[in-house]
Amino acid sequence: MGRASRRVGGLPPVAAGEARAKGGFTLIETLVVIAIIGVLAGMVFPVFVRAKTTAHMTTCMNQLRQIGLAMMMYREDYHELAPRLSTLHPDYLPDARVFVCPSDKAEGKHSPNDYLEGPRYLGSGVSYTYIPNWKYARQLGWWGDPPHYGQGKWLDSTPIAMCHWHWAQRWDATMDLAAWGEGPHGIMLVLAAGGSVSKVRTEVPVTEYSPSGE
Ligand SMILES: [Zn+2]
Repeated sequence: MGRASRRVGGLPPVAAGEARAKGGFTLIETLVVIAIIGVLAGMVFPVFVRAKTTAHMTTCMNQLRQIGLAMMMYREDYHELAPRLSTLHPDYLPDARVFVCPSDKAEGKHSPNDYLEGPRYLGSGVSYTYIPNWKYARQLGWWGDPPHYGQGKWLDSTPIAMCHWHWAQRWDATMDLAAWGEGPHGIMLVLAAGGSVSKVRTEVPVTEYSPSGE
């Protein structure tokens, strides 16, 4: 009576289960399963990597916007730019982590120079280039010469900070792509004095990048 009721579904009552129990998976079956898993992993993994890269860039853009807002408040108070990005901490930016890009493998601990302060003034490090202190930016007319910190152009579109860690792990102030050879190309994030953050393709020569629009 029990058997009769099992046949209702149309399956042979016992045979399939018995054969499987004796042999388990054959070698071929096992290899096929492993191959399928490999193919699926190969399809899924790049998606994860891309999602992580995109998330890093979104976080970085938000951090640059916060820095931009803080810099505008500083300008309201002092009528000039901050001498360094880390000057904004802690009064205008209490959380020093906003100065470190999540894609920066050195986590802001780069050797300092006139446009990248690294850990010189803020031990937790700074990933972002500060363009008003960058001589080449003045040569290009993005900023007027000192005497005072960053006094010069105050156009909303004039760049004040930049993140290049989404495409490279070292930095060349001339941004001469010929010197980079066949290195990684991609996106730079540029914060302008008006607070906007834009993505700039590294293939655009810096001499053609005219933030002031003049
Ligand atoms: Zn970044």
